[in-house]
Amino acid sequence: MDLASVISPEAIVKPEGRFLADLMGRGVQGTADAVVLPSTTEEVAAVMRWCYDNEVPLTARGGGTGLAGGAIPVGGGVVVGFERLNRIRQFDPLLWRIHVDAGVTTGDVQRLARESGLRFPPDPGAAEISQIGGNIACNAGGPHAFKYGVTGHWVTGLEAVVPPGEIVTFGGPLRKDVAGYDLKSLLVGSEGTLGLVTSAWLRLVPAPELELPVVGLYRNADAGIGAIERVLASGVVPSAIEYVDGVMLSYSGGAYPFGVPEDAAFMVITEADGAVPEARRVAAELREALAEDAVALHAPEEPSDVAELWRWRGSAAFAVLAQRGGAYSEDIAVPLDRLRDVARETLEIGARHNVHALSFGHAGDGNIHSTFLFAPEDLDEEARADDACRELFDLALRLGGSVSGEHGIGWLKRGQLEPQLGPVGYDLHLRIKRAFDPKNLLNPGKKR
Ligand SMILES: Cc1cc2nc3c(=O)[nH]c(=O)nc-3n(C[C@H](O)[C@H](O)[C@H](O)COP(=O)(O)OP(=O)(O)OC[C@H]3O[C@@H](n4cnc5c(N)ncnc54)[C@H](O)[C@@H]3O)c2cc1C
Repeated sequence: MDLASVISPEAIVKPEGRFLADLMGRGVQGTADAVVLPSTTEEVAAVMRWCYDNEVPLTARGGGTGLAGGAIPVGGGVVVGFERLNRIRQFDPLLWRIHVDAGVTTGDVQRLARESGLRFPPDPGAAEISQIGGNIACNAGGPHAFKYGVTGHWVTGLEAVVPPGEIVTFGGPLRKDVAGYDLKSLLVGSEGTLGLVTSAWLRLVPAPELELPVVGLYRNADAGIGAIERVLASGVVPSAIEYVDGVMLSYSGGAYPFGVPEDAAFMVITEADGAVPEARRVAAELREALAEDAVALHAPEEPSDVAELWRWRGSAAFAVLAQRGGAYSEDIAVPLDRLRDVARETLEIGARHNVHALSFGHAGDGNIHSTFLFAPEDLDEEARADDACRELFDLALRLGGSVSGEHGIGWLKRGQLEPQLGPVGYDLHLRIKRAFDPKNLLNPGKKR
């Protein structure tokens, strides 16, 4: 029995390039025997059952924006793309909830929520392309995860297909559920290795009336991180606390909408939100905490200026990429008292490997994108950037942190999990995988 007998022929497409690599992959090109684009959960189940019967690997693919190579089919087999499984199943704005197919884009969920005065807070940077299923599979974060939490926090239920091709539901449109082991949360962040997410029930919140960013610019990382510590100690809860280090500022500062003073070499971006009086009160406290040692303070209020600031922050990574054409940007997470070490040691690691280095990211969550640059045609430089990443992972563990705060392990960080979990933890991790996927056919080689 061939694949075409279990799914309509129009759902089987040629395994062309866009299904075989990540949008921003490190040049890793996968191979696949077939790509299927199912439109229903039943079709996903039929494909998995066929793969399980025939011992064929299958790799889930959302928007392909993952930064760890998770959606790249490294061992051939079938790619299951979710772009046609993209219906809004139910939207209950008055109950602050929505039920969507896995292939709906993050941006569409954010927009629908906004149009009803609500908010879907997870805001990973490629929202117009990434899909809810991919966000769930990576447990994606973003700048506003500091106040609102990562994707998993907003998922109350999942429909998924698990081996050998069964449709299951964990949770649903309910806000509390402690009945069994938390199988829903096991699927969240599992990077397509335990099951294929086909739909999700998501929680929404009323949108804040006002968002007021407050940006501090400092002479050096020490002063800037001191400011972050004062913000944390002030007792107010900003919606975001980000930093951009001096190297990144030198690459991207030209486009910063409010002007970077010459003596600034570190930026802290915070934001207050909520009802108008609350947002104004928090913004005033943020200004006070950030003002000490600052060479400039910017507090845009016009919605267009606020949007411009976040647009700049989102695109600053592309200014970095443009420097040498290639960049390995990792996503380690460390305890908050180790931010200084990460900012300093990232530069030291870069110097040791003779590559340009910088760091930026979600400072309030200790989730930092340490980045090493290379020219793609310079294979030696690329190898040195890769070595720098390996040393960075050691640093994350030495500081009591994690090798991944939001992108996952995927393919590119393979081998990094065991040192972090230790032998017993890692063995449990593998046993969970076996319990879901005894034939090891779901995204084999990933998340290990
Ligand atoms: C410019 C840019 C900015 C970014 N900013 C952020 C950020 O701020 N925070 C952040 O966390 N990430 C960020 N990312 C990374 C990426 O956008 C997220 O990881 C996103 O969640 C990936 O979703 P996707 O649909 O593109 O998934 P894909 O890349 O297609 O897949 C990612 C993983 O999920 C699995 N998967 C996909 N769909 C399913 C499904 N339905 N069921 C089961 N498994 C599935 C895949 O097999 C793979 O392992 C950024 C990426 C880019 C390019």
